[in-house]
Amino acid sequence: MNKHFLTITAAALLFTAGCQSKTQKAAGDNSADSTTMTVATETAAPAGTPVNIDKIKVADAKTILARKQVPVLCYHQIRDWKATDSKSSKDYIIPIATFKEHMKMLADSGYHTILPDEYYAYLNNGTPLPSKPIMLSFDDTEYNQYAIAAPTLKKYGYKAVYFIMTVSLGRPNYMTKAQVKELSDAGNVIGSHTWDHHNVKKYQGKDWETQIDKPTKTLEEITGKKIEHFAYPFGLWNPEAFPELKKRGFKSAYILAEKRDQNDPLFTIRRIIASGYWSARTLSNSIKNSF
Ligand SMILES: [Zn+2]
Repeated sequence: MNKHFLTITAAALLFTAGCQSKTQKAAGDNSADSTTMTVATETAAPAGTPVNIDKIKVADAKTILARKQVPVLCYHQIRDWKATDSKSSKDYIIPIATFKEHMKMLADSGYHTILPDEYYAYLNNGTPLPSKPIMLSFDDTEYNQYAIAAPTLKKYGYKAVYFIMTVSLGRPNYMTKAQVKELSDAGNVIGSHTWDHHNVKKYQGKDWETQIDKPTKTLEEITGKKIEHFAYPFGLWNPEAFPELKKRGFKSAYILAEKRDQNDPLFTIRRIIASGYWSARTLSNSIKNSF
């Protein structure tokens, strides 16, 4: 049985539709040449080298905001479009060939992937990053991230962070626990994306336990590693969420393309959705224009 050929579930459609509350416009083709990050390459550890971030002192917001941001890309489904896919859903569904072109462009352009711990160490401590750093992130536990994205990344020595919503684990078209563990064991990072994708701004009382505490425990049991990075469902957040996430051991949290919180940039790390409509060239321009 090829479970990825099964009809997409209603839940999948719901989550995909939900993610469309935030969109970005494709960047134009007239961008100025990018300024390469001015970070040392000589002392940078190879990509994927574990960093112990527990010993790192959190820097003040001004210091963090002053550092050049690393581009972070956000992908959802990696599969060819179907006749039933809506126009707006295609921002979240990237055809396989287009995804492969994106990765090839990044590799040909000399980008090196970094992971959330490395970004955290850089933002707080100025820890050097590889040249042309970039982060790849995958949301919502989609099976094709395991089947298509991960092998493509591996070809280029790339690693990524997978933000998992635990309700989907083992469902048709979603990853199983074993697949998540495999990604983790291969040096990718597993982050939390809540239990069932509810908007963090609406949490009250027990919601924190259901949406955050239990999924963290599940993901820690699967991976055998601490779960310390979070992505807000729909990219929606408010400052009230920061202390809740911090007291639960999270070190950073990822939003979408809007402005970072000026007091807590570690809990509002920016990403852009790499749209299914974007050619490799458009992606390249968007990276330069958005970060
Ligand atoms: Zn999501």
